[in-house]
Amino acid sequence: MARETRDGETRVAMVPELVGRLTALGYEVVVEPDAGRGALHTDDDYVAAGATVDPAALDDADLVVSVQPLATHAARRLRRGTTTVSFLPVGGPSAELGLVADLRDLGVTSLAMELVPRISRAQSMDALSSQSLVSGYRCAIVAAGLLRRFLPLNMTAAGTVQPADVVVLGAGVAGLQAIATTKRLGAVVRAYDVRAAAAEEIRSMGAKAIELDLETLEGAGGYAREMTEERAARQRELLTPYIAAADALITTAAVPGRQAPVLVTAAMVEQMRPGSVVVDLAADSGGNVEGSVPGEVVRIGNAQVWGGRNVPAQMPGPASRLYAQNVVNLVALLTRATDDGRDGGDGGHTLDPDFDDEIVAGACVTHDGVVRHEPTRLALE
Ligand code: NAD
Repeated sequence: MARETRDGETRVAMVPELVGRLTALGYEVVVEPDAGRGALHTDDDYVAAGATVDPAALDDADLVVSVQPLATHAARRLRRGTTTVSFLPVGGPSAELGLVADLRDLGVTSLAMELVPRISRAQSMDALSSQSLVSGYRCAIVAAGLLRRFLPLNMTAAGTVQPADVVVLGAGVAGLQAIATTKRLGAVVRAYDVRAAAAEEIRSMGAKAIELDLETLEGAGGYAREMTEERAARQRELLTPYIAAADALITTAAVPGRQAPVLVTAAMVEQMRPGSVVVDLAADSGGNVEGSVPGEVVRIGNAQVWGGRNVPAQMPGPASRLYAQNVVNLVALLTRATDDGRDGGDGGHTLDPDFDDEIVAGACVTHDGVVRHEPTRLALE
């Protein structure tokens, strides 16, 4: 396991608790010194779990796991034919095309966790979902923390305190988790998503689905399609009264591989009441809210606007545990048993990705000196 070196990354790709799952698959687990520190795991924790700690961990590795892609200088230490498993953005504003070209030229087999197909068989490897779960929860807690009022209704001898009104835009994995969490805290929650299927999911969480007189936007694979500027303007107009009435607005909308859509203008935020709060999970990828800044709280009109920046890293313990489980499940798919252990056999395993497997083929970015992910190959030409 590589030590994370990117600014602000506290998650780790393997937790001591799951080291045994890799050793059971036949791997000798070696971690770089201090690699678990961000998620509060010491080197001794890894050693106690059966791993070894070695500054040269990457040099002879067959398989390197990390959360963020390796820095180029770390990738250059790998042997030809090494396999890497990490997030590796290939589209949108954070695409790492230079690194992909390096990995290709170094003969590294790279698998990108965000490219694991969202099919039922791959659900246990779906790191986008596991990390969205963490960020959706975190957004709800941040909104509750910034609000200087109760979320639930309170009926007391001293009078009744009304519950807070929360609006959530985007009801994918993160949005639904933000809805569930603010509901649990007692807020009155309304939510909107462009996908038709989302309305039922919103209601199943006990929230009210905001229904706008607009066409829905289903794209391939159950994701949202990009909207025209005309539709975006009309959506903003129709959402304005809901946002003006909210105590807290949480935005989680994304379109895969693209900059996040601007759903809320600064003028819309300016209509919110004193003390209101906006949490923009998408600030990192361009922002759903005009004027939000990743990693900062800015004031727009009467509202405090919190911009998310690597939000899952704000809860490194559970985010790492879930990510590590996704990694273990993917590594198991990449590993072939060479012997069943019967008749005195060694029960051996080997790292042998099957590139005809839909999951491996979908997640593979580079292999054997070639960029196998078609859109990325075209972008590099
Ligand atoms: P995402 O992070 O790409 O986007 C978040 C949400 O923003 C989506 O629900 C999207 O519809 C919404 N959105 C986009 N543009 C919008 C706009 N202009 N206004 C309002 N909302 C907008 O999505 P996600 O959370 O990764 O999941 C998207 C879909 O994929 C969901 O239907 C989810 O159930 C499905 N999914 C399937 C699997 C699986 O089958 N294995 C796993 C995870 C998610």
